Amino acid sequence: MKLLFASQNKHKIEEIRPLLPPAVELVSLTDLGFYEEIPETSPTLQGNALQKAQFIFDKFHSLLPSEGVGGCFADDTGLEVYALDGRPGVYSARYAGEGKSADDNMEKLLAEMQGVDNRSAEFKTIIALVGLGEPMYFEGAVKGTITKEKHGMHGFGYDPVFMPEGFNITFAQMSLEEKNKLSHRSRAVKKFAEHLRGI
Ligand code: IMP
Repeated sequence: MKLLFASQNKHKIEEIRPLLPPAVELVSLTDLGFYEEIPETSPTLQGNALQKAQFIFDKFHSLLPSEGVGGCFADDTGLEVYALDGRPGVYSARYAGEGKSADDNMEKLLAEMQGVDNRSAEFKTIIALVGLGEPMYFEGAVKGTITKEKHGMHGFGYDPVFMPEGFNITFAQMSLEEKNKLSHRSRAVKKFAEHLRGI
């Protein structure tokens, strides 16, 4: 089985690869030398995941086996903070503005959360799969809290300010294996992998 992953994020690929069945040949956009921006204009995580997967499928489906099984998938993730009415949510990537860094996004979030007692938040991931019949979706979520400062060097994005429920360290203080035991993405990928095993 050959699957294209519609993302340029090397951290996502590192997290997803060990969770997929060994029979899956995972082809990343780096493998294809494709570095252009992928449109992400939907107001929902599901819409964005579908848009990214469909965009890359339309461009590269000729690389998939004509006989045998092939498809394309994408993940879209959002961090929903209760005290901010669910923001940044679907706009997590551009929270501090277009072209801003993960650090800029975290600084903006920490500033908005200054003095706020209820620091509850939830990471949500939706994976969209296209090319194998009708589009399919797989969801994963994890609850936690937003810390008052950044902690840890691992992971990416908002990991240094997100402490999952039941832990007193952030995702960025965990190894990839530890994060993969409980993260939003790993929960979605495990459902996705289960589906692939059944094909
Ligand atoms: P997207 O799914 O690539 O659009 O990501 C949306 C935003 O959430 C970006 O700012 C990412 O850096 C961030 N993000 C996605 N997944 C994670 C994660 O597993 N941990 C922390 N931040 C993440």
